[in-house]
Amino acid sequence: MEKNHMRYLGFLLGISAVLFVMAGCGISREYQEKQFLAMDTLISVALSGTEEDVQQIQTIINELENKVSTTNQSSELYQINHRTTDTVMVSDTVAQLLQEELEISETTNGALNPALYPISLAWGFTTENKRVPSEQELAELLPKTDWRQIQLSGNQLTLMNGMELDFGATAKGFASDLCAAYLKEQDVESALLDFGGNVYTIGDNKEGKKWRIGIRDPWDETAQNFAGVLEDTNEAVVTSGNYERYFEQDGIRYHHIMDGTTGMPAQSGLVSVTVISESGVKADGLSTALFVMGLEQGIEYWRQHGGFEVIFITENGEQYYTEGLIGRYEPSSEKKAEVIDR
Ligand code: ADP
Ligand code: MG
Repeated sequence: MEKNHMRYLGFLLGISAVLFVMAGCGISREYQEKQFLAMDTLISVALSGTEEDVQQIQTIINELENKVSTTNQSSELYQINHRTTDTVMVSDTVAQLLQEELEISETTNGALNPALYPISLAWGFTTENKRVPSEQELAELLPKTDWRQIQLSGNQLTLMNGMELDFGATAKGFASDLCAAYLKEQDVESALLDFGGNVYTIGDNKEGKKWRIGIRDPWDETAQNFAGVLEDTNEAVVTSGNYERYFEQDGIRYHHIMDGTTGMPAQSGLVSVTVISESGVKADGLSTALFVMGLEQGIEYWRQHGGFEVIFITENGEQYYTEGLIGRYEPSSEKKAEVIDR
C-alpha cells in the first residue's frame, strides 16, 4: 500500500457517498464516490454518473490488473515472464500497453524501460523481501534488461531468454485512459479518478469549477500538505516520487525508480516529477522517465518534444515548472519556484 493515498481526500471531503447535482439541461444526475484497493494502491473515484459507471470502472481496473500483475500467478504478464518459448501471443491490451511504453523508451533513450523487472525483483520491490543486491548480481542481471531486444509485431511478442517485463511505471496511467474513455462514452461530464497519485479529471467539479489537484509535498509524511495546487480539466496529472516506495538500510534510503544503466535507484537530484498530459499512460511513463533523467535532461526533453507540462521538485526543495502551467499552478512553498520557458 502506498502511504500517500490520502493526498486528495481533502478535495473530496464534502462529497458524501451520493450527491445530486444538476447537469446541463436540467436533468439531475447522481454524484457517486467510491474507494477500493486495486493495482497495489488506493483507488478513489468521484463522478457524476450512475452506480453502474462506478462498477464498470472497477471492472476495467480489475481486468487490467488480471492481465498485467507481475505477482499474480494467473495473470497474463506472469505467464509471459514464465514462458517456455521465446515467442508468445499476447492480448490486444498487453500489446497496446507495451507498444505505448516502448515508444517512450525510444524517445527517452531507455530512461523508461519495461524490461527492468529482473532488477526490481532483485531489490525485492514487488515481493516485499527488500534487500540491496550485490554489484556482481546487478552486473549479471543488467544484460537481461535490454529493452531494444523486445520484439513486438502485432500480438506476437519475442523475448530472449531471461528477459522479464513489468508495467509498474505505466499501468495506472493506462488504466486511467481506459476509464476516462469509458466515462466519456457514457457522457459523464464530471469525474475525478485518483489511482494512487495518478489523477485523471473529466470536465469541471461539482461546483462547476476546474478540479484543483494538490501536488504532494515530498517532505510531508502526513501527506496533508501540498507543494502546490494545480487547476485541471480533461487531463492526467501523474507524480513519480522517490518517497512513495522505499526501504532504508544502514541509514541509506533505496527507492523503487530504477536507473537502467546502473541497476540502482535513480539518483538524479530530483524528489518528484509531475507530468500533465491528455494521455494518462504518457503522463505516467514520462513522470518515471523524467525522474530518472533528472532536471537538466528533463527540461531538454520537454523543449524538444513538448505536448505535455511538467513540475520538477529538486532535493533542495526548489520547484521548476513549464510555462504552460502559468496561471493554473500555484506553488505553495517559500523556496524558489522557477518557470521553464521554451
Ligand atoms: P508508482 O508505482 O509509485 O506510481 P512509477 O509510475 O514511477 O511509480 O513507477 C515505478 C514502478 O515502475 C516501479 O515500482 C517498477 O515496477 C517500475 N520501474 C522502476 N523503474 C523503472 C524504469 N526506469 N522504467 C520502467 N519501469 C520502472
Ligand atoms: Mg510512472
